[in-house]
Amino acid sequence: MKYIEEFQDPALAERLLDEIRAAVTRPWALMEVCGGQTHTIIRHGIDQLLPDEVELIHGPGCPVCVTPLEVIDKALEIASRPGVIFCSFGDMLRVPGTGRDLFQVRGEGGDVRVVYSPLDALRVAQQNPDREVVFFGIGFETTAPPNAMTVYQARRLGIPNFSLLVSHVRVPPAIEAIMRSPNCRVQAFLAAGHVCSVMGTDEYPGLAERYRVPIVVTGFEPLDILEGVRRTVLQLERGEHTVDNAYPRAVRPEGNPAARAMLADVFEVTDRAWRGIGVIPDSGWRLSSRYREYDAEHRFQVTGIDTREPAACRSGEVLQGLLKPHECEAFGTVCTPRTPLGATMVSSEGACAAYYLYRRLDLPAAVTRSPEGSPVV
Ligand code: SF4
Repeated sequence: MKYIEEFQDPALAERLLDEIRAAVTRPWALMEVCGGQTHTIIRHGIDQLLPDEVELIHGPGCPVCVTPLEVIDKALEIASRPGVIFCSFGDMLRVPGTGRDLFQVRGEGGDVRVVYSPLDALRVAQQNPDREVVFFGIGFETTAPPNAMTVYQARRLGIPNFSLLVSHVRVPPAIEAIMRSPNCRVQAFLAAGHVCSVMGTDEYPGLAERYRVPIVVTGFEPLDILEGVRRTVLQLERGEHTVDNAYPRAVRPEGNPAARAMLADVFEVTDRAWRGIGVIPDSGWRLSSRYREYDAEHRFQVTGIDTREPAACRSGEVLQGLLKPHECEAFGTVCTPRTPLGATMVSSEGACAAYYLYRRLDLPAAVTRSPEGSPVV
């Protein structure tokens, strides 16, 4: 398939690997920010092909994984209310909240619908003027522009029964938080190419300079990853720390000006909690005061949420690159994609799911789990 196969060419991959092997003289730890990149790496065994000196640490760039439990519980609460149609992308339906998920809410009679675009949810609102329609708007700089556009359209078209439950996050403050962590081992970043296709690259030179880390904008196919690693290793070996765009077929320095303008109109920057990590200053977006009437949290006033993370789940450490998924005691036994304890096992971009699906590991037999996450024998 054009634009896929040429970025998976084994001969070119071998050439890039040779160049990386020739360049590396000592150990380096690189973090790939995006969960999509993590999946490519594990699926194609790229981390196992690299020389032992190059370690890839999996970062927090999986949108489903970092959506805080409190927001999931709010979604469950709102979706359970009579008269509400709760719309979401399908990957959020199996994300465990405290004790249940959106599938269970649907099984109990809630009107939970899978849509393929936030504009589909807006159409549902137009077709059901006597119902409240809520869209679950999560994710990074990639999903935020269409959600912003949908709220803009709701106001332009005068659709009052639509609202957005917002939990958007931003990559650069997360990089900053990772570099400030006392346990940080990361020496360079493969930045997420699709995020930069929206936002451009101007948020990164300050970070590269402040923390003296190379930041290489990288794509998602195997050759993209290898080229990102090659450029990063060359910088590290030379003692450089610049921002380099290894994904020019999709990323321009200025990003997508129309999408950025829409974001600036509809959203404003706010502190945001990341699941398993905690609050990171200025790391998210919420609806600006001009669009507050479309904010589902404002409209539904959800209170009394008592969140409880499963004690066995160590996804916070996985998301910070402090633990590899298979080092979690619950991995592949209590916690599997069919019985996920944490969001990193649910999401198709989660590191735990990637290791479970693609890594050849000797796993003990899966066991059933209780709602709290303890094994049921
Ligand atoms: S394997 Fe499961 S329990 Fe362990 S960190 Fe991953 S999601 Fe959490």
